[in-house]
Amino acid sequence: MTTYDLVLSGGRVIDPETGLDAVRDVGVSGGQVREVSATPLAGVTVVDVRGLVVCPGFIDLHSHSADQAGHRLQALDGVTTVLELEAGSYPVAAAYRQAAAEGRPLNYGFATSWAVARMAVLAGVRPGGDIDDFMANIGRPEWQRPAPAAAVGRIVGMLERDLADGALGIGILVGYAPRIDPSEYLAVAALAARAGLPTYTHARELVELDATTPIDGAEEIVKAAAETGAHMHYCHVNSTSIQHVDRVLGLVERVRAEGARVTTEAYPYGAGMTGVGAAFLAPEILHRRGLTPHSLGLLGAEGRLADDAALREVRRRDPGAAVFVHLLDEHDPAQFAFIERALAFPDAAVATDAVPLLWRSGAADPTAWPLPEGVVSHPRTAGTYGRVLRVLVREKGLLSLAEAVRRCTLVPADVVGVPAMRRKGRVQPGCDADLTVFDPSTVADRATYESTILPSAGFAHVVVGGEFVVRDGELLPESLPGRPVTAL
Ligand SMILES: [Zn+2]
Repeated sequence: MTTYDLVLSGGRVIDPETGLDAVRDVGVSGGQVREVSATPLAGVTVVDVRGLVVCPGFIDLHSHSADQAGHRLQALDGVTTVLELEAGSYPVAAAYRQAAAEGRPLNYGFATSWAVARMAVLAGVRPGGDIDDFMANIGRPEWQRPAPAAAVGRIVGMLERDLADGALGIGILVGYAPRIDPSEYLAVAALAARAGLPTYTHARELVELDATTPIDGAEEIVKAAAETGAHMHYCHVNSTSIQHVDRVLGLVERVRAEGARVTTEAYPYGAGMTGVGAAFLAPEILHRRGLTPHSLGLLGAEGRLADDAALREVRRRDPGAAVFVHLLDEHDPAQFAFIERALAFPDAAVATDAVPLLWRSGAADPTAWPLPEGVVSHPRTAGTYGRVLRVLVREKGLLSLAEAVRRCTLVPADVVGVPAMRRKGRVQPGCDADLTVFDPSTVADRATYESTILPSAGFAHVVVGGEFVVRDGELLPESLPGRPVTAL
């Protein structure tokens, strides 16, 4: 009889691709699942997981929290692969190099960044492959303007080289430069179609929010899919659609029925978060979303912004400052229903939009664990998956447990679609041993808008490439088994 490196014994194994949902032993050796067995397996290490769910590790398509500290919070929420696809990084080689040099607890990967390439061409930014490149320049008008054809050509050329370097697709933050010519968006989508890789869009304004938008943000995405054949992924359809989510999802459903490749994701919170210098937070247009400065609260500060003058001042002084944008009231069932419909939409992925941690007291030290006092974030960074399993599965019964697991694992693996992802999101022999083990009766988010980085509860073990990152509910700070995921 084979003796495996690790056996997870007697858990309820859920494999969303084959539909397996039964008590099994899972044998792991050499970083891969080797056997899934109805009879007991032998292992050097055997962990009794009776009464717990064993499923593929969660794959987050949308995390801006790429350092060790961010990964650790996400590990405690069941995540094993952290991807920065919406903002992306430019150049991706620098982002992969930095993660490899420092080590990461979880697997990591990056799309290239249209916004940062645009900042380089139009605003002279010298990018280093970090989210800071975008946040530091978010409010500068030079990069947000329509670009002449020659500049568009240079931007597309930069993205093309990054795709050749292994980028997982193209992140398109068009909502942060909402007046650009729609032809530029189509040119970027056409590049993605040629490369056979997805795009990840933060949509520009919906017509309901800005009648003067050059094109409706949802129409633009589905049109690009239909016209170029590119796979267009619609990021956080909850927060850019708010109360118009039914119209947007109806459009997505229609073009998908016609054969276009448009996928979606959502997160289970009513508040968004972004840099306060974002174009759509300008005081003169805030009302279009039904917001006032009082709907905005700076991360790490008490209370909300008082008035237009306060908003103008902080946008001038610190445009990259993270700000809560209270879009929908989670305590109002009618408003929370918009979020539920985005999450329950057929084949929608769960994705966090995790934000970089803010270190309020002292310099950032992403290697420190436990996180010191004064570190804050949006609760979605620490709690998205626990919250989906608690609220949507256990409390509301909106998704079955197996379906929720599928939306956290197989669905995002298939959205990314590169060969390396075909070994993730599955519990089958030959697949990567990225596994999450949780108690379905207690799994829950704990992070709130007041205590923003409380780790989720109920995740017993998180295994990445066959190595524990979380064991018996405890994070192992010395464990850095994360590997790059690229398109190469
Ligand atoms: Zn976004």
